[in-house]
Amino acid sequence: MIIKPKTRGFICTTAHPEGCALHVQEQIDYIKSKGSFNGPKKVLIIGASTGYGLASRIAAAFGTSAATIGVFFEKPASETKTASAGWYNTAAFDKRAKEAGLYSKNINGDAFSNEIKQKTIDIIKRDLGKIDLVIYSLASPRRTNPKTGITHNSVIKPIGNPFTNRTIDFQNGVVSEVTIQPATEDEIKDTVAVMGGEDWEMWIQALKDADVLENGFKTVAFSYIGPKLTHAIYTNGTIGKAKEHLDKSSKVITDMLKEIDGKAYISVNKALVTQASSAIPVVPLYISILYKIMKEKGLHEGCIEQAYRLFAERLYSDSLELDSEGRIRIDDWEMRDDVQENVIPAWEKINTENVYSLSDLEGYRNDFFKLFGFGFKEINYENDISPIVEIPDIE
Ligand code: NAD
Repeated sequence: MIIKPKTRGFICTTAHPEGCALHVQEQIDYIKSKGSFNGPKKVLIIGASTGYGLASRIAAAFGTSAATIGVFFEKPASETKTASAGWYNTAAFDKRAKEAGLYSKNINGDAFSNEIKQKTIDIIKRDLGKIDLVIYSLASPRRTNPKTGITHNSVIKPIGNPFTNRTIDFQNGVVSEVTIQPATEDEIKDTVAVMGGEDWEMWIQALKDADVLENGFKTVAFSYIGPKLTHAIYTNGTIGKAKEHLDKSSKVITDMLKEIDGKAYISVNKALVTQASSAIPVVPLYISILYKIMKEKGLHEGCIEQAYRLFAERLYSDSLELDSEGRIRIDDWEMRDDVQENVIPAWEKINTENVYSLSDLEGYRNDFFKLFGFGFKEINYENDISPIVEIPDIE
């Protein structure tokens, strides 16, 4: 099969196995270039196949030689259709981990279900005994609550008033104005049910009940705050409500872990191009401007640089500084005054004509296609290759 990018709206429906493998390799090389650091030994990553979860898995495995179990929801290939990028990423990660002599196990299925939780616990008991870190990095448009059987769909909408602002179609560079109507009460509740902390709490409770958590166990879930210009659609919108709930869950979980001296953290991360963030209106235009400014200042980071700082300079450093709300901040460079001061004037002026000079739209687009394994110079995309790639260690 000759595999080229095929896009539908903000998603790419194809992925290139060799390109995804290179993308994973780049991240492994980055972590190796930093040298080993103190860190976890046995890690469960929930949402391990793309974005922040994959980068965390790579940092743990190749930075601290940790054994990793990855849970994700991805599609394998057929003769006529490519696998999803996360499938190819995991195949590449697993291969490299095995070559490095590292334990790696993969579980493909719905992390929100009781069945996948039980399967994970059985594997931990069988292979690792106990784990010392859980990274919770799910981004999903829906969740079926295993207790009620109800499926909730999340929405990305403001709360209270309609929100009008600039947005971009990052494929053709057209900047336009978008108005998003406010969410209903039910939509707010549903979004909290999907992206809030209920499932994180369920995971940690199940792992604790099964007695598979080490003393001093840690768990981290990811959040975002960002500047005022995205607040109406993010922090003060439906997704922000879910993140507020996630924050509360970190406290519930820390209480749950008292006897084993465990702790749950929220890490506030930088805005980055991932499959999840490209679905949010307004945010891709903000990210394009931010990329330009942060690159000019030598402050640009991707998921892997963020994951490195999270592990080596925060979670497992000698002194872990938290903000006034008790959160880890690795969005510190994004939120620096000298960065944000430059975002506002660009935001006010940006339009279809000047988008390439005021933002790094090209960088955004390149990063987007890289998520699916496209745009690597090393790869000849005219080559006819098989889309079928197995993940050796999958249960
Ligand atoms: P992503 O889309 O790259 O990754 C999502 C992961 O969740 C994938 O591994 C996917 O397979 C998995 N997943 C989704 N539904 C699942 C299910 N039902 N069962 C099992 N696995 C499932 O997303 P991301 O951007 O890395 O986001 C991860 C977290 O980081 C989210 O909480 C997000 O809010 C947060 N975050 C993202 C950004 C950003 O700019 N991308 C910034 C700050 C915080």
